[in-house]
Amino acid sequence: MLDQSLDTQTFVSHLECSETGKVYPADKIHNLSETGKPLLVRYDLDAVKRFFPKTALNGRLPEFWRYRELLPIRNLKNITRLGEVMTPLLPATHLQSVLGMRSILIKDEGRLPTGSFKARGIALAVSMAKELGIKKMAMPTNGNAGAALAAYCSQAGIESYVFCPDDTPQVNIREIAFQGANTYTVNGLINDCGKIVGEGKTARGWFDVSTLKEPYRIEGKKTMGIELAEQLDWQLPDAILYPTGGGTGLIGMWKAFNELEKIGWIDSRRPRMIAVQASGCAPIVKAYNEGHRYAELWQDAYTQAAGIRVPAAVGDFLILDAIRESNGFATAVSDEAILTMQARVAQSDGILLCPEGAATAAALAQEIDSGRISKNEKVVLFNCATGLKYPMPASDQFVDRHFPIDYNQF
Ligand SMILES: *Cc1c(COP(=O)(O)O)cnc(C)c1O
Repeated sequence: MLDQSLDTQTFVSHLECSETGKVYPADKIHNLSETGKPLLVRYDLDAVKRFFPKTALNGRLPEFWRYRELLPIRNLKNITRLGEVMTPLLPATHLQSVLGMRSILIKDEGRLPTGSFKARGIALAVSMAKELGIKKMAMPTNGNAGAALAAYCSQAGIESYVFCPDDTPQVNIREIAFQGANTYTVNGLINDCGKIVGEGKTARGWFDVSTLKEPYRIEGKKTMGIELAEQLDWQLPDAILYPTGGGTGLIGMWKAFNELEKIGWIDSRRPRMIAVQASGCAPIVKAYNEGHRYAELWQDAYTQAAGIRVPAAVGDFLILDAIRESNGFATAVSDEAILTMQARVAQSDGILLCPEGAATAAALAQEIDSGRISKNEKVVLFNCATGLKYPMPASDQFVDRHFPIDYNQF
């Protein structure tokens, strides 16, 4: 078991190219592998199994650092914390009865620092950057990742550089800038911003913390899978619907389930992994439908669910592999269905989903109709950010207190 007084104990054995399996040493700064694919962190899981019994969790704080034996930080003093709570699994009872489902739970990731689950990945990436002596980090973002990077870098004393598409909502851009990042808008999409980071990396010595272009964000996102398993008493649901942009969360949870099985905490049963995208930006759905392992760049990407407006994902094959191995699928929903569902869940279940989260609920309704999801399945939907950071329809009913009020109007 990890002793707080020891600062060099961890179970990381090496990193591995997710495509070729080539081994890379831990404790060094890495971005992509030589073949341009994501690097995954590997652990000595036999040792984890021996030294990390489930009972070790008793008495640990309700935050994802409770799983630190399955995380890569070596020196606990490098852990950068902003209050990473375990997020609730909310029963969507009204939606469940309307759709006639056996069980719908919504994992509400909007409770995390900076209001989205990007905090999980960024907390890990920034803590590891601190450990590895990185001084400047840069990333492209549609908003939520940049907000998390700004906050965690400020906390860790690392400089951050953030590039957003120029149609990113002002509330996100201002939050990122206000939390201390050097913030720029770019007349292009997230992949165009990514290109600037890629070039500036050499010119300015930035560490590129783009989705899956460094090995540790996925380790943070992996904690969603461990936490979900723990909350369900180590019995995974039948299906997980995940709003998929870069896919880190889906890949991360899949990795978590495999590690949990190897350490004997769960059995071999897996949820069907269902990737949800918007019909205006659905490269993974297209590749899935066409039977391909890699996705093509999606042209003229458009959706109001900004977190899933990702025209090209470096981890496309990892997303598609997990979907297929789990007997899941990928599906797209229209923006209209997303916004209708967002309002419905807000008003009937009292849960303010972000549009990306609402996309999973819309996909659930659509796929019950199509027969690809059965009403008997226990499903978990991921709401990845607070709905509070997104535009809501205006409300303009007015009472003029200087005139007699007609109480029949209410
Ligand atoms: C980033 C983001 C996503 C997509 O997450 P990935 O794991 O990169 O696919 C979904 N929803 C929201 C709100 C996001 O910020």
